[in-house]
Amino acid sequence: MKYTLTTPLYYVNDKPHIGSAYTTIACDAQARYKRLKGHKVIFITGVDEHGQKIQRTAEQKKIEPIEHCNNISQLYLKLWDKWDISNDVFIRTSSQEHINIVNDFFNRVFSSGDIYMGHQKGWYCVGCEEYKDIDEHAIESTCPIHKQKLEWRDEENLFFRLSKYQNEIEQLVNKEDFIYPISRKNEIINFVNSGLKDFSISRVNVKWGIPVKGYKDHTFYVWFDALLGYISSICKLNSNYSLDNLIDNGWPADVHVIGKDILRFHAVYWPAMLMSANLEIPKKVIGHGFLTKDNLKMGKSLGNIIDPDKLVKDYGIDSVRWYLLKDFKFGSDGDFQFRRFVDIVNNDLANTIGNLLNRTTSMSRKWFEGNIPEAINSDTHILQIKVVDTLKVYNSSFSIFDFSRALDSVIELATFANVYLNEQAPWKQIKLNSNKQLVANDIYSILETCRIIAIMINPVVPKLSIKILNQLNFNSTDINLTECCYWGLLQSNAKLPTPEPIMNKLEFIDDN
Ligand SMILES: [Zn+2]
Repeated sequence: MKYTLTTPLYYVNDKPHIGSAYTTIACDAQARYKRLKGHKVIFITGVDEHGQKIQRTAEQKKIEPIEHCNNISQLYLKLWDKWDISNDVFIRTSSQEHINIVNDFFNRVFSSGDIYMGHQKGWYCVGCEEYKDIDEHAIESTCPIHKQKLEWRDEENLFFRLSKYQNEIEQLVNKEDFIYPISRKNEIINFVNSGLKDFSISRVNVKWGIPVKGYKDHTFYVWFDALLGYISSICKLNSNYSLDNLIDNGWPADVHVIGKDILRFHAVYWPAMLMSANLEIPKKVIGHGFLTKDNLKMGKSLGNIIDPDKLVKDYGIDSVRWYLLKDFKFGSDGDFQFRRFVDIVNNDLANTIGNLLNRTTSMSRKWFEGNIPEAINSDTHILQIKVVDTLKVYNSSFSIFDFSRALDSVIELATFANVYLNEQAPWKQIKLNSNKQLVANDIYSILETCRIIAIMINPVVPKLSIKILNQLNFNSTDINLTECCYWGLLQSNAKLPTPEPIMNKLEFIDDN
C-alpha cells in the first residue's frame, strides 16, 4: 500500500528554524511508522525558492538569487541529516523538473478556461506575498503579521477562476476527515462560506520567478508555483514523469502536514487548482500549531530563538525528537521549556525504559549463564496481555498523528513492567531453587516487553531503538510493526551482551 506525505516546502528567505524542524520530525515519525507497517512510503520535503522576498534578500546580500537559494538549501539538507530525517525526495522549486511541471500544469488549467487577464490593485505585503484586505483609500498601512509597510500595487495579472469551484470546495472542506484539527476546519469553512474570489497567479516585474510562457514580463505567483512542488517531487522520483501518469507514481498525497498559517492555501486554493487541471486532490491536510518558548513567541527581537543545530549538538537528536513528539499535542500550540525537556527525557528514556532494560539484562546474565532464559509458561503472561493492549492504543494514536498519546501508552507499559519487576522481586525468589522457572518466565517476559517497546519507539527515536535491540541480541534489520510485535520472538538461550546504559542522563545547560 502506498502512502505519500509531505512537509511544506520551506521558504528559503532565512536559515531553517525550530518550527520547520518540528514539522519535519512529525512527518518523519509518521513516514517511519508507515514503513514499519509495510507501506510503500513517499516522504516529500523541500524548499520554495521564488518570489520578490527572495529577490530582495539576495539583492541586500549582493548575490544572485540562485546563489542565496543554493546556500539556504544546503543548510536544510545538512540539518535534516542531523535530525535523522528519512525523506525520499528533496525538491527545489528552482529545478528544471519543477519548472517543466509548472508549465504543463498551467497549460491544463488554461485549457479548462480558468485563466484570464485581470486588473489587480491593492495593498500588498512582500513578506506574506499576499494582497491584504485593506481599504484602498488608506494613505499607508502595515502588515499585521510582518509589521512592515504595505506596498500599493496596481497591475495587470493573470487570474485563476477560483470562484468557479465554490460548490466543490464547500463540499470538500466540510468533509469529515479532510481538514484536521477541527478548530482549524471551522476557520476554513467560514472563509469559504464568505465567498471565494478569483486570485492572481502571475506578477509583473518580479524577475525571480518562473516566466509565464506567452506573457511577457509575467512570472508565476510564488504560491501557484510552490504548491506544484509536491507534484514535481513525485515526478522527480521517476525519470519518465508527466502529469498523465501521476496516479501510478504516488499521487495524490495522503496527507499534507503544514503550519496553521498556510492552511488556506492548502485546503482551498490548491484543491481548486488540481480540480481545474483534472488531477486528484490530496486526502487530508493537517495544520499543526506553533512552538513558543517559555510561553513567548520566538523571535529575533526577543532573542529567544532556539537554534535547531545547537539543540541537537547540546542534547542529542533522540532526546529532541522524543520531547517534541511526546510532550506537544500535535495540532495544538506547544511551549518549549528546557527544564521540562530535560526532565521528560531523563524520566522516560533514561529512568523508565533504560533502567528496566538495564536491570533485567543484568539479572538475566547473572542468573542464566549470560543468556536470555527460557520461558515455560502455560498461562499467558500478564505482561503479554499488557503489551497487546498497548499496541492497540499505540497504533490507533500513531496513525492519526497523536504522537503524544502513542508515546504515553509506551511509557505506561514500561512503568507497568517496572512495577511488576519490583513486586515480583526476583532477587528474593532466585534464592529458592524451586522458584527458578518462575523467575525465568518473568525475566523473559520483561525482556520481551523491552524488545517490543524498542520497536514501538523506533519511528520516533530510531537510534535509541536499535541500541535497545542490540542489547537484547535481536536482529534489528528488517524490523516491522506487525510480525515483530508478536510475543515470544526473543531467542531463549541467546547470549546477552554486556549491559550498557542506552542513554546518559541529560544535564540542564543554562545558556538557553
Ligand atoms: Zn505580511
